[in-house]
Amino acid sequence: MTPARKCSLVTAAAVAVSLSAWAQGIDYAKIEILTEKISPNLYMLSGSAGADPGHEDAAGGRIGILAGPDGIFMVDAQYAQITDKVAAAIRKISSEPIRFLVNTHVHPDHTAGDANFVKMGALLFAREELREEMLHPPARPGAANQAPAGDPARLPVVTYGMGDPVKLHLNGEIVDLIPVRAAHTGGDTMIRFENADVIMIGDFYRNYGYPFIDTNNGGTLKGALEALDQTMKLAGPNTRLIPGHGTVIHRTDIVPYRDMILDVQAKVQKMIGEGKSEREVLAAKVTAPYDAKVPGGLSPAGAGTSADRFVSMVYSQLKGGR
Ligand SMILES: [Zn+2]
Repeated sequence: MTPARKCSLVTAAAVAVSLSAWAQGIDYAKIEILTEKISPNLYMLSGSAGADPGHEDAAGGRIGILAGPDGIFMVDAQYAQITDKVAAAIRKISSEPIRFLVNTHVHPDHTAGDANFVKMGALLFAREELREEMLHPPARPGAANQAPAGDPARLPVVTYGMGDPVKLHLNGEIVDLIPVRAAHTGGDTMIRFENADVIMIGDFYRNYGYPFIDTNNGGTLKGALEALDQTMKLAGPNTRLIPGHGTVIHRTDIVPYRDMILDVQAKVQKMIGEGKSEREVLAAKVTAPYDAKVPGGLSPAGAGTSADRFVSMVYSQLKGGR
Protein backbone atom coordinates (compact mmCIF):
# COMPACT_ATOMS: atom_id res chain seq x y z
CA MET A 1 0.00 0.00 0.00
CA THR A 2 1.34 3.45 -0.90
CA PRO A 3 1.77 5.95 1.94
CA ALA A 4 -0.82 8.24 0.31
CA ARG A 5 -3.39 5.42 0.07
CA LYS A 6 -2.69 4.38 3.64
CA CYS A 7 -3.10 7.99 4.75
CA SER A 8 -6.45 8.39 3.00
CA LEU A 9 -7.72 5.17 4.59
CA VAL A 10 -6.62 6.38 8.02
CA THR A 11 -8.35 9.74 7.39
CA ALA A 12 -11.53 8.03 6.23
CA ALA A 13 -11.49 5.80 9.29
CA ALA A 14 -10.95 8.79 11.58
CA VAL A 15 -13.85 10.66 10.00
CA ALA A 16 -16.13 7.61 10.27
CA VAL A 17 -15.19 7.17 13.94
CA SER A 18 -15.75 10.84 14.77
CA LEU A 19 -19.11 10.92 12.97
CA SER A 20 -20.41 7.78 14.64
CA ALA A 21 -19.12 9.06 17.99
CA TRP A 22 -21.11 12.22 17.26
CA ALA A 23 -24.24 10.19 16.69
CA GLN A 24 -23.73 7.89 19.67
CA GLY A 25 -22.53 10.61 22.02
CA ILE A 26 -25.94 12.26 22.33
CA ASP A 27 -27.32 12.09 25.86
CA TYR A 28 -31.04 12.00 25.00
CA ALA A 29 -32.09 11.63 28.63
CA LYS A 30 -30.37 14.91 29.44
CA ILE A 31 -32.06 16.93 26.67
CA GLU A 32 -34.73 19.36 27.83
CA ILE A 33 -37.01 21.21 25.41
CA LEU A 34 -36.97 24.98 25.75
CA THR A 35 -39.87 27.02 24.31
CA GLU A 36 -39.54 30.58 23.06
CA LYS A 37 -42.56 32.66 22.02
CA ILE A 38 -41.77 34.52 18.79
CA SER A 39 -45.15 36.10 17.97
CA PRO A 40 -48.67 35.73 19.46
CA ASN A 41 -49.07 32.22 18.00
CA LEU A 42 -45.60 31.20 16.76
CA TYR A 43 -43.14 29.37 18.99
CA MET A 44 -39.63 27.98 18.63
CA LEU A 45 -38.61 24.80 20.46
CA SER A 46 -34.93 23.98 21.04
CA GLY A 47 -33.00 21.25 22.80
CA SER A 48 -30.94 22.29 25.82
CA ALA A 49 -27.17 22.82 25.68
CA GLY A 50 -24.48 20.32 26.59
CA ALA A 51 -26.17 17.03 25.62
CA ASP A 52 -25.41 16.79 21.88
CA PRO A 53 -21.72 16.86 20.93
CA GLY A 54 -22.60 17.83 17.33
CA HIS A 55 -24.66 20.78 18.56
CA GLU A 56 -23.12 21.86 21.85
CA ASP A 57 -25.17 25.05 22.09
CA ALA A 58 -28.60 23.39 21.67
CA ALA A 59 -29.32 19.68 21.12
CA GLY A 60 -30.79 18.70 17.75
CA GLY A 61 -32.51 21.01 15.26
CA ARG A 62 -34.90 23.80 16.14
CA ILE A 63 -38.66 23.18 15.81
CA GLY A 64 -41.28 25.78 14.82
CA ILE A 65 -44.86 25.59 16.10
CA LEU A 66 -47.72 27.69 14.71
CA ALA A 67 -50.69 27.18 17.04
CA GLY A 68 -54.34 28.12 16.91
CA PRO A 69 -57.93 26.93 16.39
CA ASP A 70 -57.13 25.45 12.95
CA GLY A 71 -54.67 23.01 14.50
CA ILE A 72 -50.91 22.94 14.80
CA PHE A 73 -48.48 23.49 11.94
CA MET A 74 -45.01 22.23 12.79
CA VAL A 75 -41.56 22.72 11.25
CA ASP A 76 -39.15 19.80 11.78
CA ALA A 77 -39.41 17.00 14.31
CA GLN A 78 -36.06 16.61 16.12
CA TYR A 79 -34.54 13.28 17.19
CA ALA A 80 -37.01 10.38 17.49
CA GLN A 81 -35.69 9.59 20.98
CA ILE A 82 -37.12 12.81 22.41
CA THR A 83 -40.55 12.87 20.73
CA ASP A 84 -42.32 12.54 24.11
CA LYS A 85 -40.56 15.64 25.41
CA VAL A 86 -41.31 17.59 22.23
CA ALA A 87 -44.96 16.51 22.33
CA ALA A 88 -45.21 17.56 25.99
CA ALA A 89 -43.76 20.99 25.14
CA ILE A 90 -46.30 21.35 22.30
CA ARG A 91 -49.15 20.41 24.65
CA LYS A 92 -48.14 23.27 26.95
CA ILE A 93 -48.76 25.62 23.99
CA SER A 94 -51.96 24.12 22.58
CA SER A 95 -54.23 21.10 22.87
CA GLU A 96 -55.28 21.31 19.19
CA PRO A 97 -54.32 18.39 16.90
CA ILE A 98 -50.92 18.42 15.19
CA ARG A 99 -52.12 18.64 11.58
CA PHE A 100 -49.16 19.60 9.41
CA LEU A 101 -45.42 18.95 9.54
CA VAL A 102 -42.77 20.17 7.08
CA ASN A 103 -39.05 19.38 6.99
CA THR A 104 -36.40 22.02 6.28
CA HIS A 105 -34.07 19.20 5.11
CA VAL A 106 -33.36 15.50 5.53
CA HIS A 107 -30.88 15.35 8.44
CA PRO A 108 -32.03 13.21 11.38
CA ASP A 109 -31.74 16.00 13.94
CA HIS A 110 -34.66 17.53 11.98
CA THR A 111 -36.52 14.47 10.63
CA ALA A 112 -35.93 11.42 12.83
CA GLY A 113 -39.09 12.16 14.83
CA ASP A 114 -41.25 12.54 11.69
CA ALA A 115 -42.84 9.09 11.83
CA ASN A 116 -43.88 9.64 15.46
CA PHE A 117 -45.74 12.87 14.64
CA VAL A 118 -47.26 11.36 11.49
CA LYS A 119 -48.71 8.62 13.71
CA MET A 120 -50.23 11.36 15.88
CA GLY A 121 -52.03 12.58 12.75
CA ALA A 122 -49.66 15.05 11.06
CA LEU A 123 -49.55 15.31 7.26
CA LEU A 124 -45.89 15.46 6.23
CA PHE A 125 -44.72 17.92 3.54
CA ALA A 126 -41.24 18.07 2.02
CA ARG A 127 -39.30 18.51 -1.18
CA GLU A 128 -39.42 15.65 -3.68
CA GLU A 129 -35.60 15.48 -3.37
CA LEU A 130 -35.86 14.99 0.40
CA ARG A 131 -38.15 12.02 -0.08
CA GLU A 132 -35.61 10.57 -2.50
CA GLU A 133 -32.78 11.21 0.01
CA MET A 134 -34.80 9.32 2.63
CA LEU A 135 -35.45 6.42 0.28
CA HIS A 136 -31.83 6.28 -0.95
CA PRO A 137 -29.51 7.55 1.78
CA PRO A 138 -25.81 7.83 0.89
CA ALA A 139 -23.90 4.62 1.60
CA ARG A 140 -21.59 5.87 4.31
CA PRO A 141 -21.40 3.43 7.22
CA GLY A 142 -21.58 5.20 10.56
CA ALA A 143 -22.41 8.59 9.04
CA ALA A 144 -24.40 10.75 11.41
CA ASN A 145 -26.23 12.65 8.71
CA GLN A 146 -27.96 9.69 7.15
CA ALA A 147 -31.70 9.81 6.95
CA PRO A 148 -33.60 7.58 9.37
CA ALA A 149 -34.38 4.27 7.69
CA GLY A 150 -37.20 1.79 7.91
CA ASP A 151 -40.59 3.09 8.99
CA PRO A 152 -42.70 4.04 5.94
CA ALA A 153 -44.49 6.66 8.07
CA ARG A 154 -41.30 8.75 7.90
CA LEU A 155 -41.80 9.43 4.17
CA PRO A 156 -43.33 12.76 3.10
CA VAL A 157 -46.88 12.42 1.75
CA VAL A 158 -47.08 15.79 -0.02
CA THR A 159 -44.00 16.66 -2.07
CA TYR A 160 -43.10 19.64 -4.24
CA GLY A 161 -40.27 20.74 -6.52
CA MET A 162 -38.52 24.01 -7.32
CA GLY A 163 -41.65 25.93 -8.42
CA ASP A 164 -43.67 28.55 -6.59
CA PRO A 165 -43.91 28.26 -2.80
CA VAL A 166 -46.57 25.95 -1.36
CA LYS A 167 -48.91 28.15 0.67
CA LEU A 168 -50.87 27.17 3.76
CA HIS A 169 -53.53 29.41 5.25
CA LEU A 170 -54.30 28.69 8.87
CA ASN A 171 -54.50 30.28 12.29
CA GLY A 172 -54.59 33.76 10.75
CA GLU A 173 -51.20 33.17 9.18
CA ILE A 174 -49.96 32.61 5.63
CA VAL A 175 -47.17 30.05 5.61
CA ASP A 176 -44.95 29.73 2.54
CA LEU A 177 -42.88 26.60 1.95
CA ILE A 178 -40.13 28.08 -0.22
CA PRO A 179 -37.94 25.64 -2.15
CA VAL A 180 -34.18 26.32 -2.18
CA ARG A 181 -31.92 25.02 -4.92
CA ALA A 182 -29.41 22.37 -3.72
CA ALA A 183 -27.74 24.16 -0.77
CA HIS A 184 -27.21 22.49 2.64
CA THR A 185 -28.74 19.36 1.06
CA GLY A 186 -30.47 18.65 -2.24
CA GLY A 187 -33.94 19.13 -0.74
CA ASP A 188 -33.92 22.29 1.39
CA THR A 189 -37.02 24.37 2.18
CA MET A 190 -37.31 27.76 3.90
CA ILE A 191 -40.54 28.30 5.85
CA ARG A 192 -41.85 31.84 5.89
CA PHE A 193 -44.57 33.10 8.23
CA GLU A 194 -45.78 36.21 6.40
CA ASN A 195 -47.69 37.95 9.19
CA ALA A 196 -45.16 37.16 11.92
CA ASP A 197 -42.41 38.30 9.51
CA VAL A 198 -40.29 35.27 10.36
CA ILE A 199 -38.40 32.87 8.08
CA MET A 200 -37.06 29.54 9.32
CA ILE A 201 -34.08 29.07 7.04
CA GLY A 202 -32.81 25.60 7.95
CA ASP A 203 -29.10 24.83 7.97
CA PHE A 204 -27.51 26.58 4.98
CA TYR A 205 -26.63 29.31 7.45
CA ARG A 206 -25.17 28.57 10.85
CA ASN A 207 -23.48 30.73 13.43
CA TYR A 208 -22.15 27.91 15.56
CA GLY A 209 -19.28 26.40 13.59
CA TYR A 210 -18.34 26.76 9.94
CA PRO A 211 -20.89 26.12 7.16
CA PHE A 212 -21.80 22.51 6.58
CA ILE A 213 -22.79 21.60 3.05
CA ASP A 214 -23.75 17.95 2.84
CA THR A 215 -22.59 17.06 -0.65
CA ASN A 216 -23.39 13.36 0.01
CA ASN A 217 -27.05 14.38 0.27
CA GLY A 218 -26.99 16.64 -2.79
CA GLY A 219 -25.88 19.94 -1.18
CA THR A 220 -23.70 22.33 -3.20
CA LEU A 221 -21.52 25.33 -2.39
CA LYS A 222 -22.98 27.31 -5.29
CA GLY A 223 -26.51 26.55 -4.10
CA ALA A 224 -25.67 27.61 -0.53
CA LEU A 225 -24.43 30.97 -1.81
CA GLU A 226 -27.61 31.33 -3.90
CA ALA A 227 -29.72 30.46 -0.87
CA LEU A 228 -28.03 33.24 1.10
CA ASP A 229 -28.79 35.71 -1.73
CA GLN A 230 -32.39 34.47 -1.89
CA THR A 231 -32.74 34.99 1.88
CA MET A 232 -31.42 38.55 1.67
CA LYS A 233 -33.96 39.32 -1.08
CA LEU A 234 -36.89 37.75 0.78
CA ALA A 235 -36.16 39.35 4.14
CA GLY A 236 -37.02 42.89 5.08
CA PRO A 237 -34.91 44.86 7.56
CA ASN A 238 -36.95 43.62 10.53
CA THR A 239 -37.55 40.04 9.38
CA ARG A 240 -36.36 37.52 11.94
CA LEU A 241 -34.36 34.72 10.31
CA ILE A 242 -34.32 31.58 12.41
CA PRO A 243 -31.63 29.03 11.54
CA GLY A 244 -31.95 25.32 12.33
CA HIS A 245 -29.18 25.81 14.88
CA GLY A 246 -27.76 28.88 16.61
CA THR A 247 -29.15 32.31 17.37
CA VAL A 248 -31.87 34.29 15.60
CA ILE A 249 -30.45 36.68 12.99
CA HIS A 250 -31.46 39.46 10.58
CA ARG A 251 -30.71 40.13 6.94
CA THR A 252 -27.58 42.12 7.76
CA ASP A 253 -26.04 39.10 9.54
CA ILE A 254 -26.00 37.18 6.26
CA VAL A 255 -23.54 39.64 4.68
CA PRO A 256 -20.37 38.84 6.67
CA TYR A 257 -21.18 35.13 6.54
CA ARG A 258 -21.50 35.18 2.76
CA ASP A 259 -18.35 37.32 2.46
CA MET A 260 -16.42 34.78 4.55
CA ILE A 261 -17.52 31.93 2.26
CA LEU A 262 -16.59 33.95 -0.83
CA ASP A 263 -13.18 34.81 0.64
CA VAL A 264 -12.40 31.18 1.54
CA GLN A 265 -13.67 30.09 -1.87
CA ALA A 266 -11.35 32.60 -3.64
CA LYS A 267 -8.31 31.52 -1.59
CA VAL A 268 -8.95 27.83 -2.22
CA GLN A 269 -9.58 28.46 -5.93
CA LYS A 270 -6.24 30.28 -6.20
CA MET A 271 -4.38 27.40 -4.52
CA ILE A 272 -6.08 24.88 -6.82
CA GLY A 273 -4.87 27.03 -9.73
CA GLU A 274 -1.36 26.74 -8.32
CA GLY A 275 -1.70 22.95 -8.32
CA LYS A 276 -1.91 22.59 -4.51
CA SER A 277 -3.28 19.35 -3.03
CA GLU A 278 -6.15 19.19 -0.52
CA ARG A 279 -3.62 18.56 2.24
CA GLU A 280 -1.63 21.65 1.26
CA VAL A 281 -4.81 23.72 1.17
CA LEU A 282 -5.80 22.50 4.65
CA ALA A 283 -2.29 23.24 5.96
CA ALA A 284 -2.57 26.85 4.71
CA LYS A 285 -5.31 27.55 7.32
CA VAL A 286 -7.26 29.85 5.02
CA THR A 287 -9.96 30.38 7.65
CA ALA A 288 -7.48 31.85 10.18
CA PRO A 289 -8.90 35.43 10.02
CA TYR A 290 -12.32 34.08 11.05
CA ASP A 291 -11.47 31.31 13.52
CA ALA A 292 -11.72 33.49 16.63
CA LYS A 293 -15.22 34.66 15.63
CA VAL A 294 -16.69 31.22 14.81
CA PRO A 295 -17.63 29.29 17.95
CA GLY A 296 -16.93 25.58 17.50
CA GLY A 297 -14.89 26.27 14.37
CA LEU A 298 -11.67 24.81 15.70
CA SER A 299 -13.13 21.51 16.86
CA PRO A 300 -11.22 18.44 15.59
CA ALA A 301 -11.21 17.69 11.87
CA GLY A 302 -14.25 15.64 10.91
CA ALA A 303 -16.40 17.09 13.67
CA GLY A 304 -19.62 18.72 12.58
CA THR A 305 -18.52 22.31 12.91
CA SER A 306 -14.85 22.30 11.99
CA ALA A 307 -12.93 24.63 9.70
CA ASP A 308 -11.14 21.59 8.23
CA ARG A 309 -14.36 19.96 7.10
CA PHE A 310 -15.58 23.22 5.57
CA VAL A 311 -12.32 23.82 3.68
CA SER A 312 -12.25 20.19 2.44
CA MET A 313 -15.80 20.63 1.14
CA VAL A 314 -14.90 23.89 -0.63
CA TYR A 315 -11.83 22.21 -2.14
CA SER A 316 -13.75 19.20 -3.46
CA GLN A 317 -16.61 21.34 -4.84
CA LEU A 318 -14.22 23.67 -6.71
CA LYS A 319 -11.97 20.82 -7.83
CA GLY A 320 -15.02 19.05 -9.23
CA GLY A 321 -16.03 22.24 -11.09
CA ARG A 322 -19.29 22.54 -9.12
ZN1 LIG B 1 -28.58 19.77 8.69
